[in-house]
Amino acid sequence: MKVNILFSANEDNWNRYKTPLKEALDATSLDYNLGTGFVPSEVNYIIYAPSSLLQDFSPYTNLKAVLNLWAGVEGVTSNKTLKVPLARMVDVGLTSGMVEWVTGHTLRHHLGIDKHIHGQDGTWRSDVPPLAKDRVVTILGLGTLGTACGITLKKLGFNVRGWSRTNKKVDGISCFFGDDQIDPSLMEADIVILLLPDTQLTQNILNQHTLYLLKRGAFVLNPGRGPLIDDVALLEALDSGQIEHATLDVFRIEPLPKSHRYWSHTKVTVVPHKASDTRPRTSAQVIAMNIKRAENGLELLHLVDRDIGY
Ligand code: NDP
Repeated sequence: MKVNILFSANEDNWNRYKTPLKEALDATSLDYNLGTGFVPSEVNYIIYAPSSLLQDFSPYTNLKAVLNLWAGVEGVTSNKTLKVPLARMVDVGLTSGMVEWVTGHTLRHHLGIDKHIHGQDGTWRSDVPPLAKDRVVTILGLGTLGTACGITLKKLGFNVRGWSRTNKKVDGISCFFGDDQIDPSLMEADIVILLLPDTQLTQNILNQHTLYLLKRGAFVLNPGRGPLIDDVALLEALDSGQIEHATLDVFRIEPLPKSHRYWSHTKVTVVPHKASDTRPRTSAQVIAMNIKRAENGLELLHLVDRDIGY
């Protein structure tokens, strides 16, 4: 019997994804229908953007799984009408994009590149930045993205620490885990990078206490999620000089309202949630493979644990 696969995201995404998805599904030899409109009771799989209009899964009585188009699942984990397994997106294209973004912004701050871009004023500045080995970079969230970023930063010579919920071993990275070890992971760090999911336990993880564990004049990069930062505490730490600069890709409210202080703050770079994106060609292969696995009775890859929220 044919499997019916509903694509539930906006039209732009449908236009970007329909061909790669068809190609990837054809390669699995599944017998399928793929489209944006089905009778709900006939749908077996939903490829899903949490921002789409579909918020009530209860009419989808023959649904077997939901495959999230994005890595972040905070917009769907608490949806009580969703009773079937949910997979988040792990995509090599998405991971590469994040590694490039994080590396670029880390190097920008490490090398003090802004000083020269904005300092074309005839002053012959002679200070030399330290070497990467003399900079401690702490990555909060040592999952798919955090680990890939950490490995690349380590290769560049940075002194990399990572913090996660469970214990990890990653070559060349000092691994910390659990609530007891967040403080030592941040102590005297020069750069902190947030790559945690947005859950009840991670909200405001960068706050008045943790910001002041960092080295004075530290840099913050947040490509994770807006609620990871206590915004009031960050603004205070920027104003006091504890934090030299924050490069923020994600915010509690997106688009960031024009009146928000981050836009005008000289020590903040606002990026419009563009650190990395799921890439249609590679992510379509992950989705097709996962549907094939489910049809063969195998557990989905990248399954979300709804109890812990990611
Ligand atoms: P993963 O699920 O692979 O990794 C999440 C990491 O966070 C894991 O190491 C996990 O620990 C850790 N973690 C979760 N909860 C806690 C906690 N309470 N205490 C300590 N550590 C915790 O996610 P990804 O790496 O794929 O993605 C990370 C986040 O990046 C996404 O959730 C999303 O919010 C964001 N993102 C942003 C994008 C952008 O363009 N700005 C693009 C893509 C993703 P453990 O390993 O022990 O489970």
